Amino acid sequence: MNDLKIPNTDVDGQKLALESIMRGLKPDPVEPMSEWADEYRVLNQTYAAESGRWRTSRTPYLREIMDAFSPSNRCEFVTIMKGAQLGFTEALTNMIGYIVHRAPAPVMMVQPTQNLAKRYSKQRLATMINDMPVLKGLVADPRARDSGNTTTAKAFDGGVMFIAGANSAADLRSVPVRYLLLDEVDAYPYDVDNEGDPIELAVNRTKTFARRKVLIGSTPTVKDVSRVEREYLKADQRKYHVPCPHCGEMDELSWPNIKWDKDKTTGQHLPESAFYSCPHCAGVIDESFKTDMLAKGVWVATKPENNTRDKRRSYHISSLYSPWESWASMVQKFVDAQADPHLLKTFINTALGECWDEEANRVDMHDLQKTAEDYSLRTIPRGGLIACAGVDVQDNRLEAVVFAYGKGETSWVVDYEVFFGDPAGKELWAELDEYLQKELSHESGSKVKISAAAIDTGGHHTQKVYDFCRLRKHRHVIAIKGQSSRNRPVIGRPTNQDISMRGKTIKGGVQLWPVGTDTAKGVIYGRFGIESSQLGSVHFSKDLPDEFYAQITSEKLITRYHKGHAIQDWVKPSHRRNEVLDCTVYSLAAAYHLGMNKFSERDWERLEDIVQPITEDLFANEPENGEIIVKSKDQNRKKTAKTVAKKHKIKRKEPLQPRRKRKTKNFATNF
Ligand SMILES: [Zn+2]
Repeated sequence: MNDLKIPNTDVDGQKLALESIMRGLKPDPVEPMSEWADEYRVLNQTYAAESGRWRTSRTPYLREIMDAFSPSNRCEFVTIMKGAQLGFTEALTNMIGYIVHRAPAPVMMVQPTQNLAKRYSKQRLATMINDMPVLKGLVADPRARDSGNTTTAKAFDGGVMFIAGANSAADLRSVPVRYLLLDEVDAYPYDVDNEGDPIELAVNRTKTFARRKVLIGSTPTVKDVSRVEREYLKADQRKYHVPCPHCGEMDELSWPNIKWDKDKTTGQHLPESAFYSCPHCAGVIDESFKTDMLAKGVWVATKPENNTRDKRRSYHISSLYSPWESWASMVQKFVDAQADPHLLKTFINTALGECWDEEANRVDMHDLQKTAEDYSLRTIPRGGLIACAGVDVQDNRLEAVVFAYGKGETSWVVDYEVFFGDPAGKELWAELDEYLQKELSHESGSKVKISAAAIDTGGHHTQKVYDFCRLRKHRHVIAIKGQSSRNRPVIGRPTNQDISMRGKTIKGGVQLWPVGTDTAKGVIYGRFGIESSQLGSVHFSKDLPDEFYAQITSEKLITRYHKGHAIQDWVKPSHRRNEVLDCTVYSLAAAYHLGMNKFSERDWERLEDIVQPITEDLFANEPENGEIIVKSKDQNRKKTAKTVAKKHKIKRKEPLQPRRKRKTKNFATNF
């Protein structure tokens, strides 16, 4: 083992891996992994569900999965979408043991975080190596100085294993590996250190190997966002079919066939009465049949057309098959979860191994589209009082969405525009400038200008955005940047960006406003559920294209758990575009920049007076004796209305008129 040293501090993974490849150039063993595990694997009593010798017959559904990962099998990608209590972690550990013993090559195991990686290494790997004489002799002794055996990297005869955290890009791109084991992928960050998807980063490490193996396993999380579901759907989607002890029909075990009784008098659920009802013969299958049924089970591909060359297999299995989880206890969990959506989600994910469709936060584009109203773009329906734009900057275009806002922050989409061109040049910005100054028509006949606009600096053209905003500060055109940290206000305190040659802040220079994007998205998505007649609702014009709805509903709020705490993140499925949603966030930020979130009832009324004075009573607005009679209170109102109008750039077609109550007396006078 003397030639297997890796320094504890700076692991030169590349060199190590190359050395091990040279050493490991042996023909692959033909022995399937399940046979190896039955012969050699020992389970430690501290960490395994059952200690002693590993027996594949205990969890027969793992046989094919382990064998698919054996080097003698041609399959390259093996995906397992699974419930809890199925012995999967031990199967993964078997794979590493087999590689060390029989098929040495560089191998990497990835856990969701570096801490979890260390824990896995200490609890599972170190104990396996320690408990198994055939492995102990092959792996460097951790007690020796500079042994090449640390928690995160272990050299062995002919290879090296790395135990990485998906939250560290440095971990993931360090070494080329032939075997890659990705555990609990749905708990991985969506973007690691701004370098992209950790799965992609890790899989890139395997490209130099012609006979690579990639295993992707996880309990799924949220539908459409779940990575393991995505990988599962790409492949042949195998289900474990077991025979009915009564009629012999082969089928998968599925939750709706689990039945249980209720107490006839109290109506209470009786989980201990749980049984499986055969969908073919209606026979009652008691839990005691499970072991025998599992032993006779076979994996059946439901989408063989996705795997014609047998390179990509995927497996789904629920805890209904678990030798350690009874059907009765699953029913108990299900009954307990009825009152609490969080528990129900956990049940669906961890017991059934299925994705949770975040119903409560689900915004369906078609549902939104159905609410579209009969008003044209660039017109503001009654109720909309100020207009604010959000602008997203892409490498070949600018996208702008304009919203009108009214009482209770009720909002109307009044325009959506895409400007193609090069943001590095001048023309595109001139076009945007003109657009932002164009007046919008109000249903009342007034003309309304855009009061504020927020432009994203997050792309590759930050300086251009600063330059554009610097000259248009007086028009409330502001430069903004989305905050990645959670629970920030929709718009925060700005920072000065213009610095003099002496390094001092230039007063009156351009400022950058931070935007709490997750907070804003929460506000926006929450409002999609509000009925159109209510304050706070969001209204859509019938003129908006399908794409608008697809983009504004592109993200989902998903809940993840970290040390027992629920963390919610907005997540966009990788294939979807979301510029419209970003623009919507920026428009809201622009409105908050004007203080909309602090507007009082009276502020809104003043705006109403200017933009949409009460005109239903035509006669009331007729001047008496050729002059407008204004009471002193209204005179005040007129004055403030003018100030607000100036501030928000609202121009009326007609001269400003005060709001007046209907006076029956006037009828007589005017006739
Ligand atoms: Zn049957």
